[in-house]
Amino acid sequence: MLSDRLRRFARINCETPYAVFDIEAAEQAYDRHLAAMAPFARVQFAVKARPEPLLLELLSRRGAWLDVSSTAEVRLALAVGCPADRLSHSNVFRSEAEIAAAFDLGVRMFTFDSAAQLARLRRCAPGSSVLLRLAVPTGDARLPMSARFGCAPTEAVELAVSAAGVGMDVAGLTWHSGSQQTDPTCWRTAIAEAARVWQDIAARGVHSLRVLNVGGGMPAAYRDAAVREPEWATVITTAVRDCFGTESPDVVIEPGRGLVAEAGITVTTVKAVVERADQVFVALDVGIWNAGLTEGAFGALEYPVEVIDHPAGRPCRPVVLCGPTCDPQDELRAANPYLLPASLAPGDRLIIGSTGAYSATTMADGFCGYPRLPQHILTADPALALEVCS
Ligand SMILES: *Cc1c(COP(=O)(O)O)cnc(C)c1O
Repeated sequence: MLSDRLRRFARINCETPYAVFDIEAAEQAYDRHLAAMAPFARVQFAVKARPEPLLLELLSRRGAWLDVSSTAEVRLALAVGCPADRLSHSNVFRSEAEIAAAFDLGVRMFTFDSAAQLARLRRCAPGSSVLLRLAVPTGDARLPMSARFGCAPTEAVELAVSAAGVGMDVAGLTWHSGSQQTDPTCWRTAIAEAARVWQDIAARGVHSLRVLNVGGGMPAAYRDAAVREPEWATVITTAVRDCFGTESPDVVIEPGRGLVAEAGITVTTVKAVVERADQVFVALDVGIWNAGLTEGAFGALEYPVEVIDHPAGRPCRPVVLCGPTCDPQDELRAANPYLLPASLAPGDRLIIGSTGAYSATTMADGFCGYPRLPQHILTADPALALEVCS
């Protein structure tokens, strides 16, 4: 799971804590996603998972679309050279000002799920292409999408008819069941539902639909192994074939986490080992706040942890891993406690794996005085990697 490159970088003796992100590892994940989804060729990266300019530039050069959710993300995508006609704006809670800004910057693809948002799009992004966002079952997403986004199928048909009636290009359907989707069959259920909605919309005389964006949620490996690309992709491509037959739409996947989580690690040092009556606490110099590992605080995700340079085969014991702040939430929750060597001592270094998604921008800066982590970006150029660490 952890690449040798990343493991090597964790051994470089620079001061912890720090985070490392390996652009090549993310590119390889992109290749695996593309290959698994063949013959469909469109991967649309959800920028919010990792708005790293070098990565966005590379993906854009490779032909990926970018899923953006704010004016700042639109600007970032354009700044790295992504053409505006490969941006899709998916934040259905956007304000009129945000729509107008995106439209001015050249964005012509917007997701919507309500009559109010349609009215705004009509005013501020006239004639644009729109994708109708459906509410779908959350399956077994570790971070399920709440009821905040997406409309019911019957409402979707009415909205599509209205959108076409006001001169919007109704390009297709979209949804997002939630993040770290561990039950791939949820895509089958959603695709079957979408196919019914698609037909109902056509029956009302709207024939412009061509895009089926099956959302993100492609899982990454954490302490639990992930359902890998071939498995979920087969569910998707098979369901599209079964539900749409020969009139296949352009299928788009919209991963965030799946491309970037495993490309990141966080390198940390043990500050203290505290033995209480019934628990051993290991305090690290990173936690959910300064390292942006908040997804580990709810127990939704459990990051893999390994000790660096510790003699193998030492007896292990269950420990509670906590961060440096005095905040009770600053803990890496684990249903089954982490097992680490009983000889673990202050000064020992650990790698927290799979921290490449939703961390770089969620780090808190200065809580209890702990600054956000420095980030090292590993590119194909090894000289660059060493330079950032010196
Ligand atoms: C965040 C988001 C994604 C990406 O989700 P992951 O779980 O990281 O794959 C895709 N689509 C939409 C609309 C999103 O908001």
